[in-house]
Amino acid sequence: MSIKGEFMYSNGVTHLLIKAGTLVDGNGAQPKKDMAVLVEGSTIVQIDHPERVQIPDGATLETCEFPDATLLPGLVDCHTHTNMPGDGTSVDDVGLESYEIHILQGVKQAKLALESGVTTMRDNGGWHRSVFWLKEGIRRELVAGPRILASGRPITMTGGHCWMMGSVADGVAEVRAAVRELVWEGADFIKVMATGGSTIGSMSERPSYTLEELQAITDEAHRRGRLVGAHTIAQKGIENALDAGVNMLIHCTFVQSDGSIGYDPKVGERIAATDTWVNPTIHVRRGFVDLLEQKRAEEGLTIEEEADLLESVKAVEDRVKVTSQLIKDGAKVIGGSDCGWHVYEFGMFHKELETLVMSGMSHGDALLAGTREAAKALGVSDIVGTLEVGKEADLLLINGDPTENISHLQNVVGVFKSGIRVR
Ligand SMILES: [Zn+2]
Repeated sequence: MSIKGEFMYSNGVTHLLIKAGTLVDGNGAQPKKDMAVLVEGSTIVQIDHPERVQIPDGATLETCEFPDATLLPGLVDCHTHTNMPGDGTSVDDVGLESYEIHILQGVKQAKLALESGVTTMRDNGGWHRSVFWLKEGIRRELVAGPRILASGRPITMTGGHCWMMGSVADGVAEVRAAVRELVWEGADFIKVMATGGSTIGSMSERPSYTLEELQAITDEAHRRGRLVGAHTIAQKGIENALDAGVNMLIHCTFVQSDGSIGYDPKVGERIAATDTWVNPTIHVRRGFVDLLEQKRAEEGLTIEEEADLLESVKAVEDRVKVTSQLIKDGAKVIGGSDCGWHVYEFGMFHKELETLVMSGMSHGDALLAGTREAAKALGVSDIVGTLEVGKEADLLLINGDPTENISHLQNVVGVFKSGIRVR
């Protein structure tokens, strides 16, 4: 996958030495005091105590010192929507905007993500080819943003979730053609809507594609060397996606046919027994609760808003319960914010990682869910996700220790992407 940095310094500097008071390697090791990372071009070449770092002969060195900060790998967010504003506008309404507005929205969102320390992210679905263009614009350094892994348009059935993004396909032949078209256009992975969702009329409590269609999508994507992430709200859709061999269950909400949420341990065991990743997306609802509670305190709520709040509090509780069970049963749960959707603003990935802690993960494991494990889930763990020699110099500096409190991720001091300081 072509996401490795191509940057070389132009000002005569050959190496960058970044010293930090504490280092968290993103591999689960205890935080280490007084450490330094030596970067050559875009690559980490040494990690050691500063006095032990060997500067190569002839190197021209630039040093950055962060004596009070913690250095950790740049964050990896498995789920974003750069075309979406994250201000409560529905997908149906964003669909009425022009492609030009979608891509300009993406420019804003990519910058917010990068400055918050997200140096790699998946875009899980946008309109037309706008996310491919955004990715190319970032590669050309026309605009600032994380390295993006793009699905382009999600594949969905007629009237299915996100049909307005432009890749409607029905039947085995059409879904295979849709995968081929997206890969040809530049898709890094395939996103498929295995159930309905928040799109009006798409029926989130029911599966959308048949098993045969899902199998065809997965088979075709895997033949083209692409991973598959399946949007799954209804439990039957989760089971179909497992049968089809998708690589990631997105949302994985266990909604039953009557609309209620109920974890089925047999399905949970199946998920844990496979190498399927799970991306719960809890804060996208919790953020709405926060917003309504704030409004209630400041100016009061309407009757409809009170009902929304009640429903959303229950929805968050149900999702936390499901995710707790999945974690207990040994499923591979990773962090993906779904930012851009509903009222989830970009630049707040730590909020989703907080919900994994609410679901029973340790703070240290929640950090791994947003770094190393997320990179594995996206198939890029040889390039990013940990601080290791040979990997890209994607670095985040914060005040605090995220292995003790994941919320400390919001105290950003500095961000480097591929060895370039971007904040
Ligand atoms: Zn999403």
